[in-house]
Amino acid sequence: MASILLTGCAGFIGSHLAERLLHDGHRVIGLDNFDPFYDRTLKERNLAACRNHPRFSFHETDLRRGPDALVDALPADPIDVVVHLAAKAGVGPSVQLPAAYLDTNVLGTAHLLEWMRQRDISKLFFASSSSVYGNTREQPFREDMNLLASCISPYAASKLSGEQLTATYHHLHGFDVLNARFFTVYGPRQRPDLAIHKFVRLLQAGEPVPVFGDGNTARDYTFVLDTVDGVARGVNYLLAHDGVYETLNLGNHQPVPLLDLIAAVGQAVGREPRLEFRPMQPGDVDVTYADISKARQLVGYAPQTSLDEGLRAFVEWLKQQPTGLLPHDAGAGPVPMHH
Ligand code: NAD
Repeated sequence: MASILLTGCAGFIGSHLAERLLHDGHRVIGLDNFDPFYDRTLKERNLAACRNHPRFSFHETDLRRGPDALVDALPADPIDVVVHLAAKAGVGPSVQLPAAYLDTNVLGTAHLLEWMRQRDISKLFFASSSSVYGNTREQPFREDMNLLASCISPYAASKLSGEQLTATYHHLHGFDVLNARFFTVYGPRQRPDLAIHKFVRLLQAGEPVPVFGDGNTARDYTFVLDTVDGVARGVNYLLAHDGVYETLNLGNHQPVPLLDLIAAVGQAVGREPRLEFRPMQPGDVDVTYADISKARQLVGYAPQTSLDEGLRAFVEWLKQQPTGLLPHDAGAGPVPMHH
């Protein structure tokens, strides 16, 4: 059994991961600030399955408040690995609010690393994003590609900066690090701002589905429990090895064009989509496509879930949500395609 600090624990991916780590026998110390990007009630529901678990504790605190605030907020018990998922996510809003994204995703990460150094905790799993590849033409994306001028949104820049910080702490302080670039994660509890979530709700409401661009953009949609399996394997790898600094793609190796996605969502919901074409949104990349051979070789990562299965699981979950809890504006505003 290991003790794991999980930041962003109340979020979409974090809450699934907390359940998985508890299931694997670990102790989970959850941290989250209930960032208002989406409703706190949804995040409280995400946490419901863990709340009363004897090996789970939860600490509401904000990484932006710095290392001293973390000292006050967290128990002094030993921590073996930090899994850092807390972030402002979403490409579109980052174009509007770049400083807020840098504040949480870069400064917040710097504060966490500094607190780790002070506490002598040196194993870190960092959630990065496929968006760091930007519009890199060569596909599938490999972890060793040169990304010096690749970012096309402040969100992507903030995630690549996070990777640079973890590299710095590996070099200066001997941190063992796995950076994982997640690729468009979907499934139960998916953030309400994300495309699949919005599309399902628009279709259920009988409204048209917006298509940004010509419909040929594509995403390497990855089912959340597959991503979480990759993270859990990464945690075990960190526990078993020293001297680690690696970056892994946790994608599905199967890009799905937007129009195919909308057709599949229509099938899962049982409605024929009506399309409404709109211009591409600033910051959105054309295609994401992960080469996952390194993750397979290093930690045995092997995503299992087909898009149809994953979409059905999402639709089932949505049916169980009390009406009135999710935002009413499924049709309003832009639909971020990438994060
Ligand atoms: P999410 O918004 O559901 O979860 C992030 C959590 O971090 C939230 O619960 C939020 O309250 C918390 N948080 C934000 N700012 C914080 C702060 N200052 N202090 C403490 N907690 C804070 O998002 P998610 O989709 O679960 O994403 C989890 C991680 O994975 C993020 O780092 C995100 O950038 C990354 N990622 C997600 C996707 C995806 O498709 N969902 C893709 C690539 C990368």
